[in-house]
Amino acid sequence: MSDAVRTRFAPSPTGYLHVGGARTALFSWLHARRHGGRFILRVEDTDAARNTDAAFAAILDGLRWLGIDWDEGPDVGGRHGPYRQSERRAIYDRHLLRLAEAGHTYDDQGAIRFRFDRGAGPTQFTDRICGPVSFDLSDPETSPDMTIRRPDGSYIFHFVNVVDDIEMGITTVMRGDDHLPNTPKHIALYRALGHEPPEFAHIPLILNADGSKMSKRDQGAAVQSYMDDGFLPEAVRNYLCLLGWSPKDDREKLAIDEVIARFDWPNLNRKSASFDLEKCRWLNGQYLQAMPLDQAWLSARPFITGAGLPADDPERGRAILAIVRPKVRLLSELSEWFGWFEDDRLTIDPAAVDKALGDPDKLAAVRELRAQLADLKPWSGDAVQSSVAEVAARHDTKPGKLMLPLRVAVTGQTSGPDLLPLLQVIGRDSTLARIDRVLATASES
Ligand code: GLU
Repeated sequence: MSDAVRTRFAPSPTGYLHVGGARTALFSWLHARRHGGRFILRVEDTDAARNTDAAFAAILDGLRWLGIDWDEGPDVGGRHGPYRQSERRAIYDRHLLRLAEAGHTYDDQGAIRFRFDRGAGPTQFTDRICGPVSFDLSDPETSPDMTIRRPDGSYIFHFVNVVDDIEMGITTVMRGDDHLPNTPKHIALYRALGHEPPEFAHIPLILNADGSKMSKRDQGAAVQSYMDDGFLPEAVRNYLCLLGWSPKDDREKLAIDEVIARFDWPNLNRKSASFDLEKCRWLNGQYLQAMPLDQAWLSARPFITGAGLPADDPERGRAILAIVRPKVRLLSELSEWFGWFEDDRLTIDPAAVDKALGDPDKLAAVRELRAQLADLKPWSGDAVQSSVAEVAARHDTKPGKLMLPLRVAVTGQTSGPDLLPLLQVIGRDSTLARIDRVLATASES
C-alpha cells in the first residue's frame, strides 16, 4: 500500500473557489483515480487573519458540485470532512521540535527560522510537467532563511504544507506552477525532516484569451458562477479537463471515465492553457442535449421555478424541455423559452399581428382553423398539421403560408419555439383561448 499513489488538493480558504484551483483539484483527483490511489482534501487554514468560513464552504460546495470526491478525512456527520490544518497543531509542534533538536532552526525575534544548507549545491529535480528544474539557494541575500513560525505562534504555509505531505504520505504533489519557486525550499524541509521529497507536477497557470493572467474578477473565474449561470457540472468538469490535458485527438466531449483511463503525464501540457468561456458554454449545450430527459428536467427545474414559472408537472416539464433544449446552452436560458408555454406570459406584439393577420384572407383562414381545432380529436401536433393543410387547400394556399398566422394567433409573436410541438403541449383549451385573445386585437385594428 505504501507505494500506492496519493495526491491532495490543498487550498487556502481565502476567497471563492477559482477555476484554477478547481482544475488543480481535478487533475490531482484524476491522477489518483487513474492509478487506483487516494485523493485527499486538506484545507490550509493556518493564516487565521485571511481565512473565512464562506471560502471554506465554497471550496467544499464547488468540489462536491464538480463530483470531485475525496477519500479520507476526519469524520464529520457520517462523512469525510476535509483535513483542516487549524486542527492539526500538535502534529506541527512535534515536527518543529524534531527540526529544532536536529539544529535546523533558530529563534529570530520570536519567529522561528529554518536554516538552509548553503553548501549543498543547487537543488535539482525533475518536475513531471515542467521537466528538469534547478534552483540555487546558496546565496543568503537572494534566499534568506525561511520563517516557519510567526512570533504569534502561528505556522507559515511552507512548513505545515511539507509536514502534512509527509504525514499524509503524499506521493505526487500537483499544484499551480506559481509554486515552482517554493519547491526547493520544500525539498530542503523534507530532507531536514528526514524524508525523501515526493514527485512534483506543476501545472501551468490558466491565461485569458488575450494572454493575460486570469484574475479573480474575470468572468468565469469563480466556480460558484457556473452553478448560478446554469452550467451542468459534468460539462464544466469536462471543460476543466481540457485546460492543460488533452486526449491527443480532436475530441472535446469526453466521459470522465475515459479521461481517467487516459490521464497520463505525456498528455499534460507544458504550455499555459487559455481560458475560453464560450467553448465551455458550447460544451454545456452538448451535454444538455445529450442528457436523459428526466435527468435534464431535474437539473432544469430550479431555473424554472426560480423564474416564477410552474414546475409541478414533471411530464409537462419534460415535454417542454424536449422542445426547447436544442435552443439553449445554459439552464438559465431555459426559463425564457418555458415562458412561451404559459398563457399568462402571452405578450401580443401589434406589429406581428398586423404582419401575419392583417390580410383579410389570412385572418379568415385562421378563424376557420380555430373552428376546426375546436373539434379536433385526438389533439396532437400532427392532427393540427392536417387541419392546417385542409384549411390551406380550401384557401388555395400552401400549408406553410398559414404557419406564421397561426403562430402569431397563438403566441402573439412572429418567432418562438417549434409551433406544432408547442400546441401539443399547451393543449386545445389554451390554444383556442389564445387565438381568441389575439384575434380580438386583430379585429380591433
Ligand atoms: N495552500 C496552497 C495554495 O493554496 C497550497 C499549495 C500546494 O498545493 O502545495 O496555494
